[in-house]
Amino acid sequence: MQNAWQKLVETARRTVEDGLVVGTSGNVSVRVGDTVLVTPTGVPYDRLGADELCAVDLEGRVTAGDMRPTSELPMHLAVYRHTEARAVVHTHAVHATAVSTLVDELPAIHYMTAALGGPVRVAPYATYGSDELAAHMVEALKDRSGCLLQNHGTVVYGDGLEQAYDRTAQLEWMCRVWLTASSLPGREPSLIPRGELDRVARKLSGYGQRRAEDAAGTADAADAAGEEPTA
Ligand code: 13P
Ligand code: ZN
Repeated sequence: MQNAWQKLVETARRTVEDGLVVGTSGNVSVRVGDTVLVTPTGVPYDRLGADELCAVDLEGRVTAGDMRPTSELPMHLAVYRHTEARAVVHTHAVHATAVSTLVDELPAIHYMTAALGGPVRVAPYATYGSDELAAHMVEALKDRSGCLLQNHGTVVYGDGLEQAYDRTAQLEWMCRVWLTASSLPGREPSLIPRGELDRVARKLSGYGQRRAEDAAGTADAADAAGEEPTA
């Protein structure tokens, strides 16, 4: 649990360092079994110690620590209730927030749209920390791992803090690309068609380096079949 807390604090600090939020804006959570570790409300992340936890159960009851959890607890818990998420990152990233005021959905400006499950929707505005905002977010997250919150920011989840953070950074970057491309008067950016996004989604599922155990599994299977393992 302490290790998960440490990683949560590091991720929250990174959102400030990378300019995705200012001050105590935004919040981060990670699920460990039926416990959710969350950033406390209104506390600068550089003041969070390694041994002060802020933990709640899936109903939002505080189970460890003396600090009040983030005001966006309804959003974080709704993500865990409705998805397989293991971590959630909420930011007020500049370009994403700007896009959230202009459209209902971020147009598929780049193939990384597929990494979030398709064109990212904008959840209609509701007051921060409200159940209404959480309900709008759940709708916008259908078949997606992230959404924009109108006039507010981003919510993205992943199988861990690293994936949730990386998807958040990709989303902010795509919003920046779209704003840049669509700012030329009289010009409309080209977009990626749905079929191509599906193809990219399949390809991305095998993207990157193979993990050691997968590579070993392939070697074992090839061994059993009397084949030379391929690279
Ligand atoms: P907290 O400090 O309560 O986490 O609130 C920040 C925020 O982003 C609210 O939307
Ligand atoms: Zn917020």
